[in-house]
Amino acid sequence: MTFQRRSVLGGFAALATLPIIPAHARPTRRQRIGVIGGGIIGASVATHLARAGADVILFEKSRPAAGATEKSVAWINPVVNDDHYMKLRLESMNAWAQDDRAYGMKAIWGGSISWAYANKNDALREKAALLETTSDKPRILSEADISRASPGIWPGKDVAFAFQTARDGHVDPVFATQRYLAAAKRYGARILYPCEVTAIRIEGGAIKGVTTTRGDFDLDHLVSVTGTDTPRIMALMDRKLELAHKPGLVVHTAPRPVTTKLVYEASSILEFKQYADGRYLTSFTSGPPRLPQHAEILQHQMPFPDAMLAQHHGEMLIARTAEYMPAIAGAQPVRILLGFRPYPLDNRPIAGPVPGVKGAYVIVTHSGITLAPILGRYAAQEIVQGRDATVLTPYRPSRYIDA
Ligand SMILES: Cc1cc2nc3c(=O)[nH]c(=O)nc-3n(C[C@H](O)[C@H](O)[C@H](O)COP(=O)(O)OP(=O)(O)OC[C@H]3O[C@@H](n4cnc5c(N)ncnc54)[C@H](O)[C@@H]3O)c2cc1C
Repeated sequence: MTFQRRSVLGGFAALATLPIIPAHARPTRRQRIGVIGGGIIGASVATHLARAGADVILFEKSRPAAGATEKSVAWINPVVNDDHYMKLRLESMNAWAQDDRAYGMKAIWGGSISWAYANKNDALREKAALLETTSDKPRILSEADISRASPGIWPGKDVAFAFQTARDGHVDPVFATQRYLAAAKRYGARILYPCEVTAIRIEGGAIKGVTTTRGDFDLDHLVSVTGTDTPRIMALMDRKLELAHKPGLVVHTAPRPVTTKLVYEASSILEFKQYADGRYLTSFTSGPPRLPQHAEILQHQMPFPDAMLAQHHGEMLIARTAEYMPAIAGAQPVRILLGFRPYPLDNRPIAGPVPGVKGAYVIVTHSGITLAPILGRYAAQEIVQGRDATVLTPYRPSRYIDA
């Protein structure tokens, strides 16, 4: 099986997919590549590396998708206020369509509607203007159009700007991660969990292996895809990296009759969607408000300080969402998740070789659900084929990590 190559967007490379190397055609000594992290990006990287013929072993300290991935809204979208980055996301959406078909991700491709009120509409207008320049042109909506385009949605009065996109999608991120890992295994990768990487062996400035809670492993390459733990992994290589601290709250409800396939963004306040099995997911777009009871959460990663606070947030979030989508009113919160976004300081992906450590590669980014397919492909291209993905030039680790 080989993927079709097709040109995606002006200025961007043809979708980077490497052919599967049949066992008999592989070099006798395959490259041994360790992947640290079993979130969606690590799982995609492991899949695409193994598919390209590498001898892959993935180490996950807890369980697949246990990090930011399972706490994600998992909206696959191009929308960002940066032209180059938007095109990378669109390219990844094409790769998503391929991986959805190849690995059975059950993504829901229903598009999205975003709206803003007067005080927030500049940023949304800017994003729509950038989308206009791509193949995914937005449809500008009036206040009344929103409920016509998606019956059951009531944005309220004073909508200053709104648009609909046709190609956005969403997934169950835990299921998608499991599907990638199943594919990686079929391509020969080993997936170890729980298995924490506790030390990294570097000799003569090059990766030689790792020490884990399940023993030592010799490696030729090491890929860190450890989300908010990335600074800790970089420290094991004597490298310094700082990320922003961005908590986020997500609530899953008990299933209700299915009413929509779209993802909604209400004025940078809420994002919400419904899964095919009827569960709603709703989330505050920005983190918790700066209240005294959130002081700890706003400072460092931690579980909810107590179950009552979690329950209160769950019910409040559902009630806020019901102002726009009455169908969710009174739904039971069944999972109330406090997540921490892997967030580079400039909110752009970090992807590429670790400066000064031969054989080490790092990926850490927000919007990792959107970007997982394309970053997996480019990592495989760069590591297995040794061919630079020039489209990643603006996202290199060297802008934050010194050699
Ligand atoms: C509230 C919220 C909403 C979001 N909404 C969206 C959205 O709508 N769309 C979108 O595209 N993105 C969204 N994101 C971002 C997205 O979820 C992340 O970018 C993505 O999940 C990152 O995946 P990852 O595999 O890099 O990291 P993670 O999922 O965090 O996985 C890292 C893994 O590394 C493991 N690990 C760490 N250290 C070690 C070690 N020493 N040894 C072994 N294993 C280790 C951890 O256990 C973890 O499982 C959202 C995130 C949050 C929190």
